[in-house]
Amino acid sequence: MIKAKKSLGQNFLIDNNILDKIVNAAPIENKNVIEIGPGTGKLTSFILKKKPKKLTVIEKDNYLAKNLENDFKKKINIINDDILDVDETKLFKEKAIVFGNLPYNISTEILSKWIINIKDNFWFECLVLMFQKEVADRIIAEFNTSSYGRLSIICNWKLNIKKICDIKPEAFSPKPKIDSSLLFFYPKKNFVKIKDPNNLEKVTRIFFNQRRKMLKKPFNQLFNGDQRILNKLKIDLNLRPQNLSLEKYYELVSEYENLRS
Ligand code: SAH
Repeated sequence: MIKAKKSLGQNFLIDNNILDKIVNAAPIENKNVIEIGPGTGKLTSFILKKKPKKLTVIEKDNYLAKNLENDFKKKINIINDDILDVDETKLFKEKAIVFGNLPYNISTEILSKWIINIKDNFWFECLVLMFQKEVADRIIAEFNTSSYGRLSIICNWKLNIKKICDIKPEAFSPKPKIDSSLLFFYPKKNFVKIKDPNNLEKVTRIFFNQRRKMLKKPFNQLFNGDQRILNKLKIDLNLRPQNLSLEKYYELVSEYENLRS
């Protein structure tokens, strides 16, 4: 019996229905697949049943990585490392399908890192990732709702996002204290061009610094009250940050870059 380590966010999936839902979310057959945080290998065996071309797993825990080696031998390629230190763009020549049931803080960090680092070519075909429900709700939030914010704006910039399902604590062992959600991400064909994605982080940080205040102050701070931009983007400065659509934020960042180039 494997003892779960809290420090590595180890909650292992035990519900076969959910495992089926996860592997049915993306077309695995004959594709290169990356699984992050395979743990005891339950999801790994479900993925293998779907006949991927190649499966590479990335597991930080040395003991679990050894265990996977014994269980799966040559059927998978194991990288015993921290996902935050792996250059996933170099793992495959062709686009990969990515599954991740990671500790929740790492899911968000890794997703932001991937989005910020994507150049013109996507290295993945799609991502199937688990989040705590509250974070998933923020990722997929529509504008004019209280969950809408920086995470929604950054994640939706280059990716289409769909919720596959919510998952109750009982699907895991040990049981986490909170509900989870499974999200599916795939590349957008068209998105507003932003030269330096750090500007997307900066502009949204300043706008959402005080999410209950009107847009006037952050707008003036970033754009010096530039009336031309207000007219062009048709923005009412009496609104609050959550009332501006995704597209408006991307256009604002683009204007911010124009002012500086
Ligand atoms: N996917 C498995 C395990 C989920 S638990 C299942 O569904 O049953 C999360 C897993 O991520 C654990 O195996 C943990 O050791 C691993 N992990 C935690 N932090 C990691 C990191 N930074 N990089 C890679 N793996 C990590």
